[in-house]
Amino acid sequence: MKRIVLLGSTGSIGVKALKVIQSNPEKYRVIALGAGKNIDLLLKQIEAFRPVSVALKDEKLASEMRRRLPKDLRPDILYGQEGFVQLSTLDKADTIISAMTGAAGLLPTFAAIKAGKNIALANKETMVMAGPLVMSEAHKQGVSVIPIDSEHSAILQSLVGHPGEDISRVILTASGGPFRSMPLKEMRSVTPDQALNHPNWKMGPKISIDSATMMNKGLEAIEAKCFFNLRMDQISILIHPQSIVHSMVEYMDGSFIAQLGVHDMIIPISYALSFPHHIQNGLPRLELDEIGILSFEKPDFTRFKCLNLALNAAKTGGSMQTVLNGANEIAVEFFLDGRIGFLDIPDLIEKTIDAHQPYPVDSIEQIIEADTWARNTTRSFLRNEYQQEPVY
Ligand code: MG
Repeated sequence: MKRIVLLGSTGSIGVKALKVIQSNPEKYRVIALGAGKNIDLLLKQIEAFRPVSVALKDEKLASEMRRRLPKDLRPDILYGQEGFVQLSTLDKADTIISAMTGAAGLLPTFAAIKAGKNIALANKETMVMAGPLVMSEAHKQGVSVIPIDSEHSAILQSLVGHPGEDISRVILTASGGPFRSMPLKEMRSVTPDQALNHPNWKMGPKISIDSATMMNKGLEAIEAKCFFNLRMDQISILIHPQSIVHSMVEYMDGSFIAQLGVHDMIIPISYALSFPHHIQNGLPRLELDEIGILSFEKPDFTRFKCLNLALNAAKTGGSMQTVLNGANEIAVEFFLDGRIGFLDIPDLIEKTIDAHQPYPVDSIEQIIEADTWARNTTRSFLRNEYQQEPVY
C-alpha cells in the first residue's frame, strides 16, 4: 500500500491522479492534499478521500476552509509554502505526487526528496530550475523520481531494460499546439482564449500557453536532459499532430523504440505510481486503424522562438535554465492578464536572458536567487517598455 501526498490536487493532473488512486484502493491511499485556491473542489476531495492534512495557497483560504468544513471532518489545515513543505515531508507518506504549477513546486518537492520520499513528478519547472540538484539529491537519498509528463514517461518506458550507453538520442514529440500552422503575422494578434484552446489535451492555463508558444517542448527538452542524463545534441523534437506516439528512443543500431497510447494523462500518472508495472485503467483502447495516419514534421523555429530560447538556455545550463523558467512564468502571466501580446512572450524572455550573466548552481539558495532576479528583471522590462493597460 502506497501512502500518497498529492500536491496540486485540484489541477488537471491532480484530478486525474485521484481517479487513478480511487480505482486502486488496495494499492494506493491519499493521506494529504495540497491545493491552490479551489476550495469548492478541495472540499469535495476531502469528503471523498478523508486526508489527515490539507494545505492551501494562503492563510485567508485556510481560514475559509476551516469555516466551511463539515463537523465530522477535521484534517489539519495548513497553508503557504511552509504548509506544502509540511505535507511533502509527512512521516507517514512514502510517495509524493508533485503536480503543482510552476516554480512553487520546487521547494516542497526538494524537501520531500531530502526526507526520503519517492517522487512522481508532473511539475516540470522543478526539473528545469534545479534538475541536476534534484537528481543528485535523489541519488544520495536512494529515492526514485519518476516522470508523469507524457513524453518523459514514454521515454522511460522505451528505456526500461536497455543499457544507457546504447542510447543514440531521444525524440520528443510535440502536438504543435493550437497555432501549429498559423502564419507569424496572425500569431501577433492571438488572444489568451485562442491560446488556451489546445487541440488534443485539456490542461491548466500555464501549460496551455506554454504549449501554444512551444515553450512547453523547450522545457521538456531540458527536463529530458536532466531526467535521463543526456547531452542536448542527443535530444530531437518532432511535431506529431495526432499525439499518439508520446516520444521515442533511438538506439546505436538505428532501432527506434516508442511508446504509443491514447492521449490521456491517466496512463503516465498510473505508470509513475505502478512502475515498472502497467496496470488496468479502464480507458478506451488505442485503435490505430481508426487513426489511420501518424505524421511527423520538423518544428518551425522561426515561428516558435521560445523553442530556440529554451534549447539555448539548456546548452548554457546553470542559472540560465532557472532564469528562462522565471521569465517565462512572468511573461505568461502578463499575456493571460491581457497586458502583452502573444509574440511579446518570447521577446520579454529573450531580453531577460540577454541581461543575465549565467553562473553554475549547486544550492537551492542560488536557484531561488536566479529565479527572483529573473522575475524582477522581466517585470522591469514590462514597466519600462510595454503598455500599462490591458491590450484586449
Ligand atoms: Mg508533456
